[in-house]
Amino acid sequence: MTNRESDGQHFDVIAVGAGMAGLYLLKKLRDAGFSAVALETADDVGGTWYWNRYPGARCDIESLDYSYSFDPELEKEWQWSERYATQPEILRYLQFVANRYDLRRDIRFSTRVDRASWDEDAGLWRITTDNGDRITAQFYVMATGCLSMPKEPDVPGVDRFGGPIYFTNRWPHEGVDFSGKRVAVIGTGSSGIQSIPLIAEQASQITVFQRTANYAAPANNGPVRREHREQLEEDRNAYREGARWSRAGVPISGSTEPFFSVEPGERMRRLEAGWTRGDLLTINSSFADLVVNAAANFEVQEFFRDKVREKVLDPLTAEDLCGKDFPLFSKRLCLETNYFETFNSPKAKLVNLHRTPIKSITEAGIDTSAESMEFDAIVFATGFDAMTGAIVAVDIRGRDGIELKNVWAEGPKTYLGLSVHGFPNFFTITGPGSPSVLSNMAVSIEQHVEWITAALEHLRGEGFHSIEATSAAQESWVTHVNDYANLTLYPQANSWYMGANVPGKPRVFLPYIGGVDRYRQVCDDVVKRDYLGFEQVGNAGSRCNDGVIRPVKPDVQLLLELLASLDQPPLDSLTPEAARQQMEASAAQRPPGPEVDEIIDGILPGPAGELDYRLYKPAIPGLAPIVIYFHGGGWVLGHASSDEPFCRYLCAESNALVISVNYRHAPEARFPAAVDDAVAAVNWIAANAEFLGGDSHNIAVAGWSAGANLAAVVCQLALAHDGPAIKGQLLITPVTDGDFTRPSYRDNAEGYILTRSLMEWFWDHYCDVDDRHDPRASPLRAQSLTGLPPAMVVTAELDPLRDEGNAYADALKAAGVQVQHLQAAGQIHTSLLAVDAIMTSDNTRRLMKDALIGFLR
Ligand SMILES: Cc1cc2nc3c(=O)[nH]c(=O)nc-3n(C[C@H](O)[C@H](O)[C@H](O)COP(=O)(O)OP(=O)(O)OC[C@H]3O[C@@H](n4cnc5c(N)ncnc54)[C@H](O)[C@@H]3O)c2cc1C
Repeated sequence: MTNRESDGQHFDVIAVGAGMAGLYLLKKLRDAGFSAVALETADDVGGTWYWNRYPGARCDIESLDYSYSFDPELEKEWQWSERYATQPEILRYLQFVANRYDLRRDIRFSTRVDRASWDEDAGLWRITTDNGDRITAQFYVMATGCLSMPKEPDVPGVDRFGGPIYFTNRWPHEGVDFSGKRVAVIGTGSSGIQSIPLIAEQASQITVFQRTANYAAPANNGPVRREHREQLEEDRNAYREGARWSRAGVPISGSTEPFFSVEPGERMRRLEAGWTRGDLLTINSSFADLVVNAAANFEVQEFFRDKVREKVLDPLTAEDLCGKDFPLFSKRLCLETNYFETFNSPKAKLVNLHRTPIKSITEAGIDTSAESMEFDAIVFATGFDAMTGAIVAVDIRGRDGIELKNVWAEGPKTYLGLSVHGFPNFFTITGPGSPSVLSNMAVSIEQHVEWITAALEHLRGEGFHSIEATSAAQESWVTHVNDYANLTLYPQANSWYMGANVPGKPRVFLPYIGGVDRYRQVCDDVVKRDYLGFEQVGNAGSRCNDGVIRPVKPDVQLLLELLASLDQPPLDSLTPEAARQQMEASAAQRPPGPEVDEIIDGILPGPAGELDYRLYKPAIPGLAPIVIYFHGGGWVLGHASSDEPFCRYLCAESNALVISVNYRHAPEARFPAAVDDAVAAVNWIAANAEFLGGDSHNIAVAGWSAGANLAAVVCQLALAHDGPAIKGQLLITPVTDGDFTRPSYRDNAEGYILTRSLMEWFWDHYCDVDDRHDPRASPLRAQSLTGLPPAMVVTAELDPLRDEGNAYADALKAAGVQVQHLQAAGQIHTSLLAVDAIMTSDNTRRLMKDALIGFLR
């Protein structure tokens, strides 16, 4: 037999790759007492820094930050010579690490892994390499790097060129001398921007072929900044811990101020300071909203473009070199040294491929649509098949032979970027769905390695032999990753973050944008909850705490975090008057909602005095359909304009006359005062519709929370007492039953703004216990719901009121009422009305206004 299985080549863990990730993984596994081997295509360690030897190759996160932090002794033994170290220095560092911990003895170099398949019966992975090795392991870890699979050049005629062709990501070890040569460089991403100035120094001519101009800031490289070194050395632990719990893996604090909230002079001062500092993060973190607010982002783009215009003498070349057409930061920002100035040299030329595309590479050079050019050498700086390329290049088969490549055909699916359902005992380091390339990868690599090693120790300790992500946990994580990305401007760019640089690759945002800190918290929380979302199997049986680690939509989570930071007292700890003031103060911070044609305040006669209303008029001729709206606030808080942004939205989007009517509040006026007022308002509006500009035959009611309770009740009373014809009811997170025993009161009792105790406080102020079963308080308790108007009932997953809303929708359906029932996943009681603030509920709002349009058609 030629294969080595006969040699008993079995390990606890097989790792693929001996870059920064593979090296640390080996060390950790060895320390934890696991047998492990790393298999590496290259003939030495280093990964990225082994392969990318092009002139000018450097890191773009400062070297003090872009280094291992796991061993303070190691840190003290290595001194970086520059702020942004060169590739040779980083490679020497990784070689030093390999030597220091004697890691090479567990690495098989010049060994490419071709196939890995899970043997369910034996409970192990079978690995095949290009050397014919066959080895097995209980666990299989891909430490294959996010930027390690070169993207194939997609230019016709590559094979025809008579001279040498170089790839920045596979650069010859002996280096290249371009002296006196006419050189073409294709690609102006990070590698192109780093290498072009140095190639230009040697070459007799350099022609740069550019498809997309990138935004680049000056590196302002030099010796390591003294204050940076001092900051680190003063308290290493605190500094590194700060990095671990930072947004991007570098301990700098971000501003919480939106761009336009800062006055223009101060904005410019911050931008200039970030520019002079020369790094990837400072400008972005000088404002809170540059990756979510297109207008703010555009202003900063202009700042970058003006800088290019200052540096590049020829105006046409300058314009061509300006980043445009995609938001700043939505592709990785580049750091440059003399890049733009290179184009002021007579020997440098820029070819804009949008104007003059390449037709073909020829034997002598390159033909574009405009001319034939001759070259002595061509350099491809065309990047990588990022994040998934190196993983799916291996034929990985999981349970029942399923192929990872097929499972990921429409985009990668992972749980936490660490594991994949259907592939037991399989892990990826910095895989898709983790912060990876959006972070300082040294920090992200350490976190993944430590998490995986701890998981293996846990399994060993608990007597489990395998672990696998559940399908539900994985699906929810994929949704969470996408939800986050969709809140930002990132998906607007044709970037490698989106897989858009590789023809045929699905367009999916690959990394997790929630931040290194939030992500680390997620991973820690998964462990704390007994590996939530993982099935652990041992000889004695299996254990699985299945579930969703982050059920809350990301923007809702941000809102909750913001509110928590304000440290306000709970409403139910206040007097009603103080609670009203606190609500008013928060409402003043909201975006106002869309423009409507006119807003008119008025007064209508109620049963116990005047009731005020606010009318939102749409810009349509003639009599408009009417929506009578009842605000939320637990019958205690609120007024006719307290849900103003949402009323404006309904008016503008459904072209209805929205009349938000006030009603008497508890505890001053207890049940059934609010009901009596609501009924009186509906009767009066129906009778005076034309005077108000509305169509009396076309009336719907709507309401939120306690207002939805009133809307439901007035529909019942109008039907029972021959009241006005109501064509539809929109009930948003309605109170339908004064009963606290449903599971949502337990599951969502706390943490989502409307708490169980606040709901109890509302009810206690509103209604005697004896009255709570009265259908005018608890419409779910009505004897019959037959004949009620068509309804849309909207419930939020993370709302104590969820189950009573669901119960009302079900009861209406059972009574033969036409019902649309929307169950908004990841939303809370207050988020569905948050116009222009909670984007993840935009779609729910659209469906609500569509329902109204349907009622009033
Ligand atoms: C030019 C450049 C500059 C960068 N600068 C920074 C920076 O400043 N800051 C930052 O955070 N990140 C930077 N990165 C990202 C960089 O890739 C990571 O920081 C880090 O080096 C990744 O380490 P890794 O071990 O995960 O992967 P890699 O370093 O890519 O190592 C993966 C290894 O796996 C091997 N491999 C892959 N497939 C197989 C297989 N089938 N069989 C055997 N071996 C295989 C590869 O040969 C490779 O050696 C940069 C990337 C590039 C390309």
